[in-house]
Amino acid sequence: MTVKIGVIGCGAIGLEHIKRITNTLSGGKIVAVNDINENNAKKIIADLHLDAKFYADGHELIRSADVDAVLVTCWGPAHKEFVLEAVKQKKYVFCEKPLATTADDCLEIVEEEMKQKKHLVQVGFMRRFDEGYVALKKTIDEGQIGAPLILHAAHRNPAVDEKYTTDMAINDTMIHEIDVLHWLLDDEYISAQVIYPRKTGNASSHLADPQIVLVETKKGIRIDVEIFVNCKYGYDIKCEVVGEDGIAYLPEPATVQTRQKAALNRPILMDWKQRFIKAYDYEIQAFINNINKGQKLDGPTSWDGYAAALTADVCVQAQQNPGKILPIKMKDRPDFYK
Ligand code: NAP
Repeated sequence: MTVKIGVIGCGAIGLEHIKRITNTLSGGKIVAVNDINENNAKKIIADLHLDAKFYADGHELIRSADVDAVLVTCWGPAHKEFVLEAVKQKKYVFCEKPLATTADDCLEIVEEEMKQKKHLVQVGFMRRFDEGYVALKKTIDEGQIGAPLILHAAHRNPAVDEKYTTDMAINDTMIHEIDVLHWLLDDEYISAQVIYPRKTGNASSHLADPQIVLVETKKGIRIDVEIFVNCKYGYDIKCEVVGEDGIAYLPEPATVQTRQKAALNRPILMDWKQRFIKAYDYEIQAFINNINKGQKLDGPTSWDGYAAALTADVCVQAQQNPGKILPIKMKDRPDFYK
């Protein structure tokens, strides 16, 4: 069977997903496309020779009998309305992060999905599909390092533009750590605190950079995440889990090591798009495969979307109250999402 997919939002990531479904992945076909910018969507259909129909209205696309599943890849504030509509229509929906821009809106989606009694939503936190994180999780789950006690993480970008604001360090950057780390540790967050070290001279005047976010989990694991978005040297993701019996590290991306001119060298990526490129393929392929096989979706759920939104909100409040430890009061996870 081929999953007939409709895409809402054909900007940067929407176009990438359309290309990967059309050219790289199997079992799915783009049959419908919507974007607020009609010319852009029609140009994509023409340029990629898609056998797809343009819909001026995203809701109409969702309701179309030609569409089995929906990809919501428009800008964040419009995610909720399209995801809710898809769930109400009992259609599978892959939504790029964020699931919605507030925790309450995420909960509305959670409640609607539970009402349908079917897992219909996958959220685009692709790091859970990265081979490195999968291997790290396996190491932890097998008990190789004993019970995790501390986790050190870093998310570094070479540079950001003037439009990047301090809260984006949480909502756009650390949001990926927020999702992947509680999955990695099989745990939930209970508090957050933000500390500002000495500011780099490479950041714009309005931006606090770097930042350190300290998070505590239910099991008592202490997590520190360094966010440094003007580090200059590369796009670098670090994760080190300190356990009772040993330490496990997120593998470095595979690169060629050279010995040359009295130096041992390994290149570091500069562009975030390359770092998790395969994980994007795997997350969408898993979405398609699970639909095709009639299996439960196994990626991040709408509950994970809620957990990320709530945690991010508290982290932003913690940014505004430096040094203060703020509680993360998450609702109890319903059995449906256990
Ligand atoms: P983008 O390039 O700005 O694309 C968004 C597209 O959606 C644009 O074509 C925009 O049209 C269109 N759009 C806006 N409102 C719409 C609406 N109501 N109905 C239909 N189309 C609408 O942004 P992007 O970088 O692709 O990001 C899209 C989403 O993906 C964001 O939520 C972002 O956080 C997420 N994302 C996730 C990752 C990841 O690593 N998982 C990476 C990148 C992006 P106009 O340009 O005319 O407004």
